[in-house]
Amino acid sequence: MTVKRRDVLLGGGGAVAALAAGGLPNASAETVHPPTKWDHTVDVVVVGSGASGFPASIRARESGASVILVEAQPHTGGHGTCSGGNVPLGGGTSRQKKYGIEDSPDLLFRDLTDWSVVEPNGFPDYRFNDREIIRAFADHSPIVFEWLMEKGVVFVDKAPDTLGGGSVGNSVPRENHAAVMNWVTVQTGKPAPADVQATTSSGNGLIRPLEAAAAKAGVQVLLEHRMVGLYRQSPNAGRVVGIAIDNKGKKINIRARKGVILATGGSSTNVNFRRMFDPRLTEEYCGIAGQPWSDQDASGELAAMSIGASLWGGFNQTGEFGSGLTKPGHIGSQYGYVNLRWMPGSPVFDKARASGLPVKDWQNIVHVNMIGKRFYDETGGQFTSNNYNTVDPYTAGSYLNAKNIKYRPNNWINAALAGIGDVHNGGGPIWAIFDADAVEREKWNPKPPNVDTGSFFFEADTLADLARKIQMKYQRVPMPPQALEDTIARYNSFVDSGTDEDFGKPKPLYKIAKAPFYAAWSTPVIHDTRVGLRINGKGQVIDMNGTIIAGLYSCGETAGGFSQHGLARATCQGYIAGENAAGEKVST
Ligand SMILES: Cc1cc2nc3c(=O)[nH]c(=O)nc-3n(C[C@H](O)[C@H](O)[C@H](O)COP(=O)(O)OP(=O)(O)OC[C@H]3O[C@@H](n4cnc5c(N)ncnc54)[C@H](O)[C@@H]3O)c2cc1C
Repeated sequence: MTVKRRDVLLGGGGAVAALAAGGLPNASAETVHPPTKWDHTVDVVVVGSGASGFPASIRARESGASVILVEAQPHTGGHGTCSGGNVPLGGGTSRQKKYGIEDSPDLLFRDLTDWSVVEPNGFPDYRFNDREIIRAFADHSPIVFEWLMEKGVVFVDKAPDTLGGGSVGNSVPRENHAAVMNWVTVQTGKPAPADVQATTSSGNGLIRPLEAAAAKAGVQVLLEHRMVGLYRQSPNAGRVVGIAIDNKGKKINIRARKGVILATGGSSTNVNFRRMFDPRLTEEYCGIAGQPWSDQDASGELAAMSIGASLWGGFNQTGEFGSGLTKPGHIGSQYGYVNLRWMPGSPVFDKARASGLPVKDWQNIVHVNMIGKRFYDETGGQFTSNNYNTVDPYTAGSYLNAKNIKYRPNNWINAALAGIGDVHNGGGPIWAIFDADAVEREKWNPKPPNVDTGSFFFEADTLADLARKIQMKYQRVPMPPQALEDTIARYNSFVDSGTDEDFGKPKPLYKIAKAPFYAAWSTPVIHDTRVGLRINGKGQVIDMNGTIIAGLYSCGETAGGFSQHGLARATCQGYIAGENAAGEKVST
């Protein structure tokens, strides 16, 4: 089929089906005729209503554009809402000045491009950051902090610190905390207790004021409108002129006269996409932080790639730092991210199914893999990332900074992903094994709604029966009962001798001996996306020839080239993309 001059390409032709299935749309997409009529026409379409999408839509609106914000879920907010609300915006904010912290855009830029900074395991935080993107972030960072407050976000009134987030530079503290105030939280379905509302940090306190500001500014929000493809004037050239939407099975086309902003939140829940960067991350890593509130299904990346967009900064996705891969904080439920517990009042509790058992002391459990073998010291940690003073003493740009790092291998994550020696990638499920005495010590109630019985939590009177009971879709081989018995017998002997001869757990304290015995899901949790679309400092998406794709912008976790966790880059890049998209000439 030839493409007529006024034809447009539906990026990812057949994309409705392909993206819904989480698959990669065919890059040589079928061409489709332009819609005979657009369902909506607007200046700027923003895709995704999270930490980058709301700032993008508000900023575009206040820069004079008419704006539609489309959101796939029946609710707004994305991961931004369920986040911890720790927002590392610096560069000389009013809050930094109030507490006598000297910072500037230049210092922030220098910090985030300092190739010499490494983590305790040797991985560099900033070496592969794209300098144009970081320059734009550094210059806008103090502006966006003040702007967020103007839009109604209340930050906890205290000096910026180093709590939460990471990869925020080594020179000065920059972490601010959005106060939860009296917003109903998505985690509990209730507001936080009145006495902590102004002092507790939460993403609800960031996103809900922005949602109100967007409504006030006149942004039109369309829920359950999933973008499934991009329209471009011709397959590999011309402007992006609109998007295709799936609205509960109905196809809708929205024309964007000035630009489309992809703020879709990244790719961590798309198994095939994430395995391009780390083949180990197979299906069993199903407890993604932020799910089941919203997905990071790579739909923004795939739609843009299918019209020629490039990805950027791939190392940041596989670098072993930050919270990209985490150790669960609560066990026995699918979603175990340490800072996010779904409680029964949450609007998504029917999907989360259980809150999990928070682990206070990893001495109380033994971790085993799919075949009942221990693999590492259970008290071992996860990857870290850089904050103020992490490298101490620190000399900017000095190769010798690495000498001031105390080496820590952080191998719990890598050991858990190591696999069982067969041809399959991925380590399979990791189970926390414990007994009735551990339940007593931790003060757990190992019953629903705390645990997800039948798939992510099992109980039995003997260890052998427990091993037999562990059956669920990711347990691809049965756990040999004898193996689990042998593992626990050997571990109990380490408690007697006081020495973990296998993995060096600091003085194993408790035997696993008193029935009933339990197996709780404790598999690593995937968190950030740090690879994404190639953008320039204005947030414009760049194609595989290094050329700007006119009319297409991206921000937040769907944009690449920046190895910082979360909210600061999302809000800042949203602001930048919104302003620039609104400044485009109207396409006719
Ligand atoms: C539990 C948790 C705690 C965190 N804590 C912190 C913290 O304290 N500090 C920090 O800096 N960062 C934190 N983060 C990270 C931070 O929340 C994210 O980096 C940030 O929200 C990313 O913003 P975003 O706009 O890219 O994506 P999101 O905020 O996730 O928004 C993306 C939105 O796009 C929607 N969407 C996706 N695809 C489509 C489509 N095809 N069509 C329409 N809509 C679509 C999604 O449903 C979602 O609503 C945390 C994350 C989690 C999950």
